[in-house]
Amino acid sequence: MHAERRRREPDPLRLLREVFGYECFRPDQRPVIDRLVAGGSALLVMPTGAGKSVCYQIPALVRPGTGLVVSPLIALMQDQVEALAQNGIAAAFLNSSQSPAEQDEVLRRLRSGGLELLYVAPERAMTERFLAVADEIEWSLLAIDEAHCISQWGHEFRPEYRQLGELRARWPEVPCLAVTATADAATRADVAGHLGLGPESIFVTGFDRPNLRYEVVPKVDARRQLVSFLGTRHRGHAGIVYCGTRKRCEQVAGWLVQEGFDAQAYHAGMDTSERAGVQRHFLRAEAPIVVATIAFGMGIDKPDVRFVAHLDVPKSVEAYYQESGRAGRDGEPADCWMAFGWQDVVRISQMIGEIEAADGTRRVHRQVERRKLEQLVAWAETAGCRREALLRYFGETGEVHCGGCDNCESPPQTRDGTIEAQKLLSCVRRTGERFGVVHVIDVLRGEANEKVRRFGHDRLPTFGIGASLDALQWRSVGRQLVALGLLRVDPAGHGALELTGEAWEVLRGEREVRLKVDRSVQTRKARGSRSRKAAAEIEGPVDDALYEALRGLRLELAQELDVPAYVVFHDRTLREMAARRPQTLDELAAVHGVGQSKLERFGPAFLQCLRAWHGAPPADSA
Ligand code: ADP
Ligand code: ZN
Repeated sequence: MHAERRRREPDPLRLLREVFGYECFRPDQRPVIDRLVAGGSALLVMPTGAGKSVCYQIPALVRPGTGLVVSPLIALMQDQVEALAQNGIAAAFLNSSQSPAEQDEVLRRLRSGGLELLYVAPERAMTERFLAVADEIEWSLLAIDEAHCISQWGHEFRPEYRQLGELRARWPEVPCLAVTATADAATRADVAGHLGLGPESIFVTGFDRPNLRYEVVPKVDARRQLVSFLGTRHRGHAGIVYCGTRKRCEQVAGWLVQEGFDAQAYHAGMDTSERAGVQRHFLRAEAPIVVATIAFGMGIDKPDVRFVAHLDVPKSVEAYYQESGRAGRDGEPADCWMAFGWQDVVRISQMIGEIEAADGTRRVHRQVERRKLEQLVAWAETAGCRREALLRYFGETGEVHCGGCDNCESPPQTRDGTIEAQKLLSCVRRTGERFGVVHVIDVLRGEANEKVRRFGHDRLPTFGIGASLDALQWRSVGRQLVALGLLRVDPAGHGALELTGEAWEVLRGEREVRLKVDRSVQTRKARGSRSRKAAAEIEGPVDDALYEALRGLRLELAQELDVPAYVVFHDRTLREMAARRPQTLDELAAVHGVGQSKLERFGPAFLQCLRAWHGAPPADSA
């Protein structure tokens, strides 16, 4: 028998401390929570990792009744519910992975009033069977996760989400919180309108993710570059590598396995159970890497993803923000790394070509899409702060304090590249705007190969005028000219280069072109010290050996309970323990992330480990 729903502390802040073990609300959480507690509704647009869940979980606990959370992430519901249970919250989920008997049991608990939170998949929420029960329930609130799926403007529209508006109409007195990490103005207005929320109930918080570091390297040898990035900075870390195609995913996962990483491919060509297996492994293993197409990751609720690497370009700056945003949800330092090369520029122009060829799309729409893709090239090739450029994309123009990006850490030198630009542009012109970058560079560099001779390009005045730069340097010039809008790749052709109208200003000598000097591809040694610095800021120096011992204990407990490690404690919590070395339950309770329930469950085991450590000699005395 399940107990009746217990009475909760009515004060949100005390509840946060007691149940979740967090000291205070983040600035953007409190106003939304207060609104919900008071019976109001809201649409909350908040970046990944900023803490959206607490914004419905706390009001659901404070208000009478059960909180209903609609979430599309079936594979993760179980873990979410498990994590809540570890905090002593009575939660359950309903989805198609359960047997009828299991579903009946959940509905019985719901009817008996024993549940504080219920997670349901959207298609489940709209069934007659569920609604018949649901109409009789006292709901404390209705939360809609990944709410951008409601909007046809959003890039992840789901028809079954569209019907959720009916729930609002059905239970008008139940407060509703719709949350999402991505919504531009049009999507926001659409979602709000659909849920009957006025402009006063839309809360949009900053897009900055201060703990993420951005870096783009010119793609030269993808395999070597990726392996070096992972090997020097992310041994023993969990992360995601995004690739453009299924085949590429398999290939890259193969490379990584050969290099001794725990890597698996994930893409739409795999069957459901295979994919579920990969997801599960990703959530539970110590240092898993998933090599995926964009099919992977929507709402992946793993907080300790330490890197997101793009080996192929995303579809837009917005998509990049979302994909890279899966790193570092726990607020700890994480890397967003991308290798960007000429193939990516070509790929982008192909995507533009596909858009332009698509029937039925309106002209304005095509222009918007085209612009989005062009912005991505500009972002990848910028010499300025990448964070600032991302925020500007989302309309945030205030002062930016960059927590880290390649360009801020070592500002690229720029030089007058007008002459090179003129050489490249004129060579494109002279060869008839019909050839790709390889051929144009061959002509520039004076390579009299068979193709060059066949077209008579060895007799052009531009033949051999570019011998001072090597082919890689010319490609870099080419990408930058694309980013500057002076050159483009014919969207319909096979990578043929074309001049834009503005290119003539350069050719006529009316416009100067600044180019950045590409950094040679190198590994940066400052990385380790940076994350250690972040750790030291928490609470004095962390004892690495003790930290490892605590991690070991956490893994043991997690395996015993069959939950991901972070459900027991987050990395940050362990690091604080290793720094502060609490010796009593009271001291342990003061550590970030240790609430009442976890204190009771895990406190004694961790204290034992911490106490045993106390007497040990410092690690370096041996
Ligand atoms: P989102 O859904 O916005 O991506 P989550 O709700 O998963 O983010 O929260 C991200 C992380 O931040 C989680 O580990 C969560 O426990 C933590 N968190 C949320 N609110 C607070 C807070 N007020 N203080 C400390 N940590 C918090
Ligand atoms: Zn920067």
